Parts: sequence; structure tokens; C-alpha cells
Amino acid sequence: MALSGLDIYKHLPKTNCKKCGFPTCLAFAMALAQKKTSLDKCPDVSEQAKMTLESAALPPMATVAIGEGDKKVEVGGETVIFRHDKTFVHPTAIAIQVSDNESDLAGKAEKIKKLNFDRVGMTVGVNLVAVKNDSNDAVKFASVSKELSEKTGLPLVLISENPAAIEQALSATGGPASGGKNVAQKKPLVYCAKENNFEQMSDIAKKYSVPLCVYGKDLDETASLSQKVSAKGVKDIVIDCGCREVSKCVQDYTQIRRLALKKNFRPLGYPVIAFADNVVDASTYILKYANILVIPMDKPEELLPLITLRLNIYTDPQKPIMMEPKLYQIGAPDDKSPLLVTTNFSLTFFTVSPEIENAKVPAWLLVCDADGMSVLTAWAADKFNAETVDASMKKADVAGKVSHKKIIIPGYVSVMSGKLEDTTGWQVLVGPKEASGLPKYLKTVWK
Ligand code: SF4
Repeated sequence: MALSGLDIYKHLPKTNCKKCGFPTCLAFAMALAQKKTSLDKCPDVSEQAKMTLESAALPPMATVAIGEGDKKVEVGGETVIFRHDKTFVHPTAIAIQVSDNESDLAGKAEKIKKLNFDRVGMTVGVNLVAVKNDSNDAVKFASVSKELSEKTGLPLVLISENPAAIEQALSATGGPASGGKNVAQKKPLVYCAKENNFEQMSDIAKKYSVPLCVYGKDLDETASLSQKVSAKGVKDIVIDCGCREVSKCVQDYTQIRRLALKKNFRPLGYPVIAFADNVVDASTYILKYANILVIPMDKPEELLPLITLRLNIYTDPQKPIMMEPKLYQIGAPDDKSPLLVTTNFSLTFFTVSPEIENAKVPAWLLVCDADGMSVLTAWAADKFNAETVDASMKKADVAGKVSHKKIIIPGYVSVMSGKLEDTTGWQVLVGPKEASGLPKYLKTVWK
């Protein structure tokens, strides 16, 4: 629970010395509560107050980073129980599990690399490879981990209860594809620390500065282990509360999320890892409340629904998915090709552009900035009108692209045609109301 300005004020020296740059301690406390300044600006705050305030300022659920560079994945850091309360922030990281007994590693890596899809203008895919030490052979585990890291380029989850095998995998040095880095330098998640090995696993996680997952057989043991591992100095912790049956998992994951967010229960304020072996269970865990999902499936037809579901759940409901406002080419248009206009709501764009492609008539599509709203909504909100279309036409220099001075507007906003003609001096043609009418329109009316 975030502290109020008055709560913070109680812990300050109350001397109003102004060293922090604020006229009074209360003003400083208020600014701190709004996260407009930091506690270290007050040189006189006591160590005791510092500890209290810093721990209260921690987010209710930690954010943990796995991997490095452009493949780094952040998980956790959620602040709400329900997406509609605000938004979920870090999409469930999907890990494809591979056994270190796998006979065709190169083929497996190729399959994993293909698990990327284009959805509404974004490339979305799997995030991690989870290497499981089924062989019980530390050397083999290290070699398979290194190879999968290099071949897929994805961050790893190293699954073994054997500290020696984990350490061997972490110190495996890669070839040129890894830039000479060892596996540890690519920040894999180590899975897992249990009651019987947490001391060694914690030492390893600290030594190599990698995140560590704790496994408890139930919520109590998980909370106890996360505290022990944290006390050993491990900062980045992920939790597995031991359940494997779907209804129990949903119950436990919901309880973890509630305890962390509503009760600020720190021992469970960490990202949760879940394991599923079928699409239905995996979908359930994406909805409630896995931060990392490990699955053995690697077929596109199994991954596409999961990734689409994840995209829907982790889209900010307050921010529509938008296209960049600009002039798009559909096919290879020239100066005689039709010019159409629409808004930058991505679903509108991805409804309109395929229909233009279907018409097989190369065209220019001017996408106007309408705050990501669809055509009718943007028109009603006065974001898509003669002035905004005129401004977009000038910005995209459409007059330099076509020689005919005709623009096709969506049928739903035919009402703006007169004003648009007056404003731009262009001939305004009213297109069909529905995008599905575009092929016929372009082939008949336009021609
Ligand atoms: Fe108060 Fe500390 Fe600021 Fe001085 S520096 S006014 S003691 S908050």
C-alpha cells in the first residue's frame, strides 16, 4: 500500500531545514508521496526511518528481468487484480520447454524461432526457452543450454534441482554467436531452490547475479522459502507454489496476487511461474495469473491462440492499439492510383488495408491521427474532420504523390464531404460504409 504524504511526514526530522530543496518537511513528504522526489534528498533522515520508508515504497509485486539486450523479458510488477482496474503491465512470458535429452536440438531451435506471428502490426512470439535437466548429466545439460541459447537467441530458464548442474550450465562459455559470453551473462532464470538446496542455489544466484525461482510444496512453504532466499541476499525472485492441477493453481495464483497487492504480503510479492501441458490449461494460467508460463508445445497452431489471448489481456484498455499516422502504400501505387483516407485505429487499418489488397488495385491509404479511434467514434469526438484530414494530407504531401486531386472518404463520414472539399479544394468521393465494399468500389466506381 502506498504511503500518504502524512504517513511519510511522521518519519521525517520535522526541522524544516530546507536542505532537500523544499520549504518544509511536509512539502517534501507530499512530493515524495507523489514520487516527484526521492528520499535521499533529505540528508538528516534516520536509518530507521529510511528502512521503514524504503520498504513501504517497494512495489507490491517485484519486477524481475530475465535475459539481456533486446531479448530481455520483464515479468511481474503488476499493480491490479483485474485488467479493467487499470492495466496489466508485463505480459506472461511464454517459455518452450526442451529436454536436455532432445535428439534434434537444431531442429527444435528452428521450430522455436518460427513461433513469431504478426498481429495488428506487431510481431509477437515466445520469449524464453526452458531447458530441463532430464539427463541428470551436468555436462550434457550445460552443453544443451549453451547450444539452445545460441541457436534461438532467447533467454533461458535452467531447470534442475542439482546445484552442480546449474553452476556448470551458467559457466558454459558460448561461441561467436554469444559474443564470447557465458550463459550466466545472458541472465537466465534458475529453477529451482527447494527446502533441501536453497542455500547452495542462493549462493549460485548471487555469485552469477541471476534470478532464482523458489519452489514450495504449498503457499506457506513458498512464502517461507522466498524469505530465506531473500535473507541470503538474492534480489530477483520468482515463485512456484507447487500446484499442478489447474483449479488448485487458479486458486493459489489468485490468492498470491491478492495477498501481494491487497495485503502487501512481501513473501509472495514476486512473479509466479506456471507449468502447463495443454492449450486449455495454458490459457487459464495466462488469464489468472501466471507471469511465466512453461509449456512443451511448439506447434504454431498451439501457440497462436495463446499469444493472441495474451495480447488481448495485456493490451492497455485505456490505450487503443494505434497505427503510425502516415501515407501507406498498398501494392505499388503511382500518381494515378486512388487515395483513400481512414483513422489510425489499428483494427480499422487492418480491416481496410486487406480489402484494398483484395481489390488488386494499387492505392494510397492516408492514415490520420485520431488518437487511435475508429472512424465513427473519431468523427463524433471531432478528431476526424475536414481540418484534421486536410492537415494529414499536407503533412503526408499527398499532392506530391497523386496527380488527380481526388480523395475517397469512408461512407460513414459522408457528412464531412462538403466541408472537406471547401477546405482542401480536392474532389471528395464517398466510399462504401463497410470495408468489405472496397473491392467492388475500387474496381467499378473508381475505374
Ligand atoms: Fe525536512 Fe529533511 Fe527537507 Fe530538512 S531536508 S526540510 S529535515 S525533509
